[in-house]
Amino acid sequence: MEQRTYKNTDISVSLLGMGMMRLPKISPDKEDIDEKAAEAMIDYAYAHGVNYFDTAHMYHDGGSEPFVGRALKKFDRKSFYLATKMPVWMADTPADIERIFQFQLERLQTDYFDFYLVHSLNAGHYQRMKDFGAYEFLKKMKAEGKIRYLGFSFHDKPELLEQICDEYEWDFAQIQLNYLDWEMQDAKRQYEILEQHGLPCIVMEPIRGGTLASPCQRSNELFEAANPNVSVASWALRYAASLPNVLTVLSGMSNMDQLKDNIATIEQFKPLEDSEREVIEEAVSAYKEFYTIPCTGCRYCMDCPAGVDIPKMFSLYNQYAAVNDIDGYKVAYEKTAESERADRCVACGKCAQHCPQLITIPERMQYIAKYAAEKF
Ligand code: SF4
Ligand code: SF4
Repeated sequence: MEQRTYKNTDISVSLLGMGMMRLPKISPDKEDIDEKAAEAMIDYAYAHGVNYFDTAHMYHDGGSEPFVGRALKKFDRKSFYLATKMPVWMADTPADIERIFQFQLERLQTDYFDFYLVHSLNAGHYQRMKDFGAYEFLKKMKAEGKIRYLGFSFHDKPELLEQICDEYEWDFAQIQLNYLDWEMQDAKRQYEILEQHGLPCIVMEPIRGGTLASPCQRSNELFEAANPNVSVASWALRYAASLPNVLTVLSGMSNMDQLKDNIATIEQFKPLEDSEREVIEEAVSAYKEFYTIPCTGCRYCMDCPAGVDIPKMFSLYNQYAAVNDIDGYKVAYEKTAESERADRCVACGKCAQHCPQLITIPERMQYIAKYAAEKF
C-alpha cells in the first residue's frame, strides 16, 4: 500500500484511508450498520495496509463510532491511526463540547485520537467553535496527549478557509476534493491555501458520494475507452491521490467490491499522466451537460421535520430525471413513501443550513415536486 509521511515525522499514513460514513447497512432505508459485513471490510483493509480509519460522532445516526471502537479493538492500537470529529452544532453549551469528547473516547474505546477534527466548518459552525471555546478545549486535550494532531474539516468558501488557517494554529485540514469540485466548488483554491499554510491535506469525497464511479454514460464511455482494465472510480481516486500535499484520500466504501477496487488502485498507485488528465477533462465536460443536484448523500440535512427523505429525493432525481429517464423516475418516485416525497416540504429551511454542498434544498424540493406533478 502506497504511504505518505506526515511532515517530518515517522508517521506513515496509507494513501487510501477508510471512511466510516457509508458502511454496509442492514436495510437501505435505515442507518443501522451491517456489522458483520462492515467488520469484514475493516479486517480486509487492515490486512492490505490501510492504517487510517476516519469516523465522526453523527455518522450512521451515531452508530459509527461505537462500531469502529469494537471493530478496531482487536488490533494493536499503535498500528493504525484513528480519526474522529467534534460536531460543534450538536453542542448547546461549552460544557457539551467536553461531554461529547469524553463520550467519543468511551465509544471508540481509546485513550487518544491520532487525528482529531473540528467537524464541517462553515461560517456558522466556525462562529460556534469560537463562542464555545472548542478550539481552546481541544488544544488542552492535545497538551494532555488525548489528541496527537488537531485539524478541521471544511465546507465553505476559500475566503473563510484562509481566515481559519490564519486565525488558529492547525496540524492538518480535510477538504472535499475531486475532479468535478476542482473547479465547480473551488477545491483547487482550497488545496492551494492549505499548501501555502503548510497544512497536509486529507481528501474527503474523492468519488463524490459515488457519483464519480459512474458520472454519466458518455463519461463512462470515455474512461472505458481510455483504459478498459480499470474501474471508472479508480480515475477519481488517482486524481486526488496524485496531488503531492495529500496525506490520505478517504473513501467511504459501502461494500467489499468497492474496497477491493480502491485498494487495487492504491496498491499499484501511478500518478495521473497528462494524457489521462485530458480524458478526465473531456469526461467533466460531458457530465456538465446534465443538470444534476450536487448532493453527496451525507445526510447532514436530516431529519426533516416534515418527513422528506432529502438525500433520496436528490439521488432519484440525479439517477433518472437528469438523464431524461422519465419512466424509470416515475416508478422509483412512486415507490417512495408519500410521506417522504418532495411535495411534503414546507420550506422551513432547517435543512439547508447543515448542507456542506450549500444546496438550496427548499428551492430544489419545490422544483422536484413541480417536476413530478407535471411529468407523471
Ligand atoms: S426545507 Fe423542506 S426539506 Fe428542508 S427541513 Fe424544511 S421541510 Fe424538510
Ligand atoms: S442535501 Fe446536502 S446535507 Fe443533505 S445529503 Fe445532500 S449533500 Fe448532504
